[in-house]
Amino acid sequence: MKAKSVFNGMSAYKPGKQIEEVKRELGLDRIIKLASNENPFGYSSKVDQVVKDSANHFELYPDGYATAIREEISQDLNIDGDQLVFGCGSDEVIDFICRSYLDEGDNTIMATPTFPQYKHNAIIQGATSKEIPLINGYHDLQGMLDAIDENTRVVWLCSPNNPTGCIINQPSLETFLEACPRDVMVVMDEAYVEYISADDAPDSLSYIKEYPNLVVLRTFSKAYGLAGLRIGFGVCDMTVANILNIARGPFNTTKLAQFAALEAYRDQTFITETVKTTNRNKFEFMEFLDRMDLDYYDSETNFVLVKLPVSGDSMFDYLLKNGFIVRSGEALGIPNSVRITIGKKDDMLLLEAHIKTFLRALEDDTV
Ligand code: PMP
Repeated sequence: MKAKSVFNGMSAYKPGKQIEEVKRELGLDRIIKLASNENPFGYSSKVDQVVKDSANHFELYPDGYATAIREEISQDLNIDGDQLVFGCGSDEVIDFICRSYLDEGDNTIMATPTFPQYKHNAIIQGATSKEIPLINGYHDLQGMLDAIDENTRVVWLCSPNNPTGCIINQPSLETFLEACPRDVMVVMDEAYVEYISADDAPDSLSYIKEYPNLVVLRTFSKAYGLAGLRIGFGVCDMTVANILNIARGPFNTTKLAQFAALEAYRDQTFITETVKTTNRNKFEFMEFLDRMDLDYYDSETNFVLVKLPVSGDSMFDYLLKNGFIVRSGEALGIPNSVRITIGKKDDMLLLEAHIKTFLRALEDDTV
């Protein structure tokens, strides 16, 4: 059988090693995963109970409209419920956008490096990607505007950007939206929005009225700690949501994910605590990096991309042997770096000790 020709040279997403597998291979009792920007503090304790209570009647399809969580979010954000599109993770909303708005002959613009699924899904649709290099980890918004031509359909803004952690601030977003042609969709992927503490961060949702070409993506996978349940959403103009909902499978989010997300969304105290603790641990980790003379990108997220004097792979290997899974920059398009998700305080202290030993061994040339 012959697959679409665009699949030539593409490969399926290869997940990192599973914790149990690494434990077995290396004979370690405990592995600390700081590789996928998950929430080390888990999720709201209220979620467990509601999941237990709703874990029944699996013979019935879920509510395809996700009514309860839709009402909760739309009331909270002061938008119409029909402006929301739910996906099996925001990954799936990215897929809806590509399937609905990209065709052969079209192009789409994104930063590089950034979240890889924008390009991956665009290729499947036969569209081409224009990748505009980041400047010190930040989007080159003028470069992205300059790249727009008559075949451009979608521009991806990832703020905070994965893997660097840098945001697009309010004045920059405003200038960009004003200059971008209104028939080009602008996707603002805010998977890590809850962690932002910068004063000049934009309230992206507030621009949708004036710029109906704007789509904002959010997820329950990061600060809400529900990555394993797969639920995220897009907020946009109703006409855009209508289109995206045509591309959506009728029952794409599960009953458990919908109930859990609703309860998690209601527990903003958990989010406040998560963000406070994560940011405290992050700033302490940055102080450690300063002491070690290691540079890093500005981060408004729950991860830090650390610049290294050696390959990211070498630090990755060293930390793995010592029970930590991080993400090597080589795999992310920024060689000589590692992306480290901020974990619990004790784990971060242990990690710091291993990094210190690694650096000392580098100086002694024994790595
Ligand atoms: N956008 C960004 C920037 C991400 O980092 C991720 C997850 N790593 C996603 C989207 C997708 O998240 P999910 O599908 O779990 O909502």
